[in-house]
Amino acid sequence: MTQQSAGLPPKVDARKCAVRQETLEGQVPLAGLARLQDAVQSSSENAQVEIACGRDELGNFTLDGHIRCEVEILCQRCLGPIPHAIDAEFQWGIIRSEEQAKNLPKSLDPVIQGEEKLDLYAALEDEILLHLPFVTYHEEDCVPRENLVFGDEAEAAPDEDRENPFKVLEQLKGKQGK
Ligand SMILES: [Zn+2]
Repeated sequence: MTQQSAGLPPKVDARKCAVRQETLEGQVPLAGLARLQDAVQSSSENAQVEIACGRDELGNFTLDGHIRCEVEILCQRCLGPIPHAIDAEFQWGIIRSEEQAKNLPKSLDPVIQGEEKLDLYAALEDEILLHLPFVTYHEEDCVPRENLVFGDEAEAAPDEDRENPFKVLEQLKGKQGK
């Protein structure tokens, strides 16, 4: 059974979907995901998501998914936007409580659904946040090198007119010693 819609439901009963081997496919509007919006400069309007629900040979409830979206993060050097495409696959194992996580095979990421329905959007938001880039600089030299002052370069070419603070300190100590 395939449930197809333009928008993915925000909450699902993941266990029921797994038993029915449903395919969840659709879009997740990203503007409403506050943690994501805090982490990025901007994002595409939607993420495109496909999730195949089922059970593995051990009977675990599994959601195998694929999520794609685009975000822009700020370059820490020039403060310009860096476009970043997220294209990630995930394998969730649905558990009822934290303690059950240890029963899952390592290939499954534990996702908790208690008595309530699973907050699918929040779980997908976690997945996007996991795939944000670690390096927040443009790969190219986005700021001309001559405008950058590196710590060791500044030391290598000291300003001779400026008094060395340590020298001043030595002089003070010398005076006190006399
Ligand atoms: Zn930059």
